[in-house]
Amino acid sequence: MAHEVVIVGGGLSGLCCALELYRNGVSFLLIEATDRVGGRVKTDQCDGFLLDRGFQVLLTAYPEAQRVLDYSALRLKPFYPGALVYDGSRFHRVADPWRKTRDSIKSILSPVGSLADKLRIAWLRRQVLDLSLENLMAGEESTTEQRLEKLGFSPKIIDSFFQPFLGGVFLDADLTTSSRMLDFVFRMFSIGETAIPEKGMEAIPRQLLSMLPGDSIITDAKVKEIKTDSTELIVTLASGEKIETQTAVLATNGLDNLLSEKKKPKSRVVSCFYFVSELPPITEPILVLNGTKSGLVNNLCVPSNISPTPTGAALISATVLGDSKHTTEVEPQVVKSELRQWFGTQVENWKHLKTYHISHALPSAEQIPPQQLSYKYQEGIYLCGDYMESPSIQGAMVSGRKAAQAILGSRL
Ligand SMILES: Cc1cc2nc3c(=O)[nH]c(=O)nc-3n(C[C@H](O)[C@H](O)[C@H](O)COP(=O)(O)OP(=O)(O)OC[C@H]3O[C@@H](n4cnc5c(N)ncnc54)[C@H](O)[C@@H]3O)c2cc1C
Repeated sequence: MAHEVVIVGGGLSGLCCALELYRNGVSFLLIEATDRVGGRVKTDQCDGFLLDRGFQVLLTAYPEAQRVLDYSALRLKPFYPGALVYDGSRFHRVADPWRKTRDSIKSILSPVGSLADKLRIAWLRRQVLDLSLENLMAGEESTTEQRLEKLGFSPKIIDSFFQPFLGGVFLDADLTTSSRMLDFVFRMFSIGETAIPEKGMEAIPRQLLSMLPGDSIITDAKVKEIKTDSTELIVTLASGEKIETQTAVLATNGLDNLLSEKKKPKSRVVSCFYFVSELPPITEPILVLNGTKSGLVNNLCVPSNISPTPTGAALISATVLGDSKHTTEVEPQVVKSELRQWFGTQVENWKHLKTYHISHALPSAEQIPPQQLSYKYQEGIYLCGDYMESPSIQGAMVSGRKAAQAILGSRL
């Protein structure tokens, strides 16, 4: 069967490209190299626990996710709107005052930043809500750290809150990510919830897959080469099979060698450590941040406080950001001994379950152009992926739709 479009890559961008083409009556074949679609959004079963491949969350305010996904079918489990900040001796609560009014009194009095810092947060919130999303993404650009300094935040709140919080969102300990991403995520956190589907993050690509015709998707098939042959494109799989098409979309993460002359995005590296224990170190569905400016662990959460595990055991997830200082893979024992300082001797009873070292978690996104480059790379070849828009689920999903729309537009 002839396919009008071949999509290489079954991550969120490839799936959303496929969905847009399908809804507009264009036939496609999506080819995914691994055993299943989802790309970087995967959930594994391990000893009865559901483990996301790296701690990640859906911000329910993402406009593209709202447009495409059925949130109630995902059975989203929200986080507490705020965080606990560990300062080296105790935990301080930082609450979103617009949603947790009572807790915000404690927040205002907490030593995580001054009162002026808390007023600046309110001012930043107003600013990002007043602008349209387009204008927000077209605003003056610097690094996130420079923007926080320019906004007048004290070094104390930058080091103890913004660095671990935004560092954990951008997987960027040095906050060199574009300030446009800071504005964007601040807006998303202000208007929506932070959530994980009951069955883990992979429920998101699984839902997208369920909207597509099953016979248009093949897995365990790596594309080795794409060549132009007069008017056709020849897509060659690693198995040697050749597929002819008019149009191909590369929905890879941009690191493939299919277009040898194309510049590759720089990667953010992260490691996620899962531990199991009889009792949870905290009992709320809340993010815990390392506000000490030292140590390896950037953030921690207890996924079993969000979706209980079948046995009632506690599942703990700790995130270590990769950077120039941490080029070698960290051992779970090292993470455990650091967390013993946070939670005391109970940590000695934690059992290490699994570690994910992820060498390409996000594209580095030091610049986010307001108007992205063309989705058409050359005649018949289109690109999509988070690196084309913004390093996020939103960016990946929207890029897939835009690539499909560019193809549809070229047919008019
Ligand atoms: C640990 C971690 C934490 C994150 N946290 C968040 C978060 O909290 N919130 C948020 O919004 N986003 C987060 N993200 C980012 C989000 O998951 C990604 O932006 C998004 O999933 C990228 O989708 P994509 O389609 O662009 O790329 P990918 O998901 O990388 O998909 C590319 C696909 O192409 C396939 N492929 C590559 N080459 C070939 C080939 N030659 N042939 C066939 N197939 C090929 C790959 O196997 C893969 O399935 C996080 C990501 C990670 C890893």
